[in-house]
Amino acid sequence: MDTLHAAIADNTEPSPFSSAGNMNSLIVELEHYRRQSEWLSMVNELHARLAGAVDMPAMLEAFSVWLMPLVNHDLLAYNNVERSRRHLLCSCHGPERRQAMAVAKEAFSHPECSESCCWISGDYAIQSWQLNQFSGSGILLVLRKGKKIGEYENQLLAKGLQILCEPLQRALEYEDLYEQASRDALTGLMNRRVFDERIASILARAERHGHPVTLACMDLDKFKQINDTYGHGTGDLVLQAVSTSMERMVRSCDILARMGGDEFMLIMPDTTLAAAEVLANRLCQSINQLDLPGAGPGILGISIGLVEWHPGLDKKQWMQKTDEALYKAKAEGRCRVCTM
Ligand code: GH3
Ligand code: MG
Repeated sequence: MDTLHAAIADNTEPSPFSSAGNMNSLIVELEHYRRQSEWLSMVNELHARLAGAVDMPAMLEAFSVWLMPLVNHDLLAYNNVERSRRHLLCSCHGPERRQAMAVAKEAFSHPECSESCCWISGDYAIQSWQLNQFSGSGILLVLRKGKKIGEYENQLLAKGLQILCEPLQRALEYEDLYEQASRDALTGLMNRRVFDERIASILARAERHGHPVTLACMDLDKFKQINDTYGHGTGDLVLQAVSTSMERMVRSCDILARMGGDEFMLIMPDTTLAAAEVLANRLCQSINQLDLPGAGPGILGISIGLVEWHPGLDKKQWMQKTDEALYKAKAEGRCRVCTM
């Protein structure tokens, strides 16, 4: 047992100082305080690492880095069914990584996993912790190949988890708020703020790799008339129906955002202008055929402007050009796709 493990093991024991006044007991007492001080500096280090992390992956990574010299491990995993969160953090690579990840995923559905316990799966020893015992939520798994997690290591883990749980809950709440702040409240689509972030990174990737990417600017036709004829409430339902319909038609890697009012933007990575035109025409038709809540089908159109990015076109110019293509679609009679 090293001194740090001993510090954890005996940090609740009474000081031996009171029972003896001789030199030996003095040395034991000094050793006791030295261990305490070593453990406190480890605790401070964990607090400092966790303070620098905001989201869940960063929080778990900070904990794993801190834990590694104390409890060597191959993988740390977190699962929270209620909040649909799962994070796996693996220190190995290649086939070993794939194997550890597969064991961890399987472990979460293991009956043992509902409690804090230890079991063996293939080459791996698995220790699971129910975090509610530390006022947290979810389950944490520690996987190690070839060697069971010992009693002292378990005590260290328990102490570490007591410290981890509060910042972990904070990270969960931060992620919830970030998600809320990224979505348009009426339609649930991404909002302008996220669009601005994503278009910048997609453009940077296109510049680096030269992959095609096409941008669509879309605006509903004569939407004011829907509001005027059927009321603002129906107008809201129409915006929701349009969003749901478009969301179903685009790919998961596309970025569909509501920019405000009845205007939407769609970034289509790895898509040429010709391919984007096919999708845009399909979008146009399906919006026109939408059976609108309280208004029926065939009365709503959408105009779409499309521009493929090319080297030398910056973000502002690209968006401006797409807006001009949309303007052209409106000018040429609406409910159509125009390219530039
Ligand atoms: P155009 O074909 O030229 O686009 O005509 P339009 O009537 O659609 O005009 P425009 O796009 O300029 O106006 C959009 C209208 O959408 C203005 C506003 O009354 C309405 N609107 C904006 N946000 C909302 C919303 O959240 N809910 C509802 N119901 N209406 C909205
Ligand atoms: Mg409009």
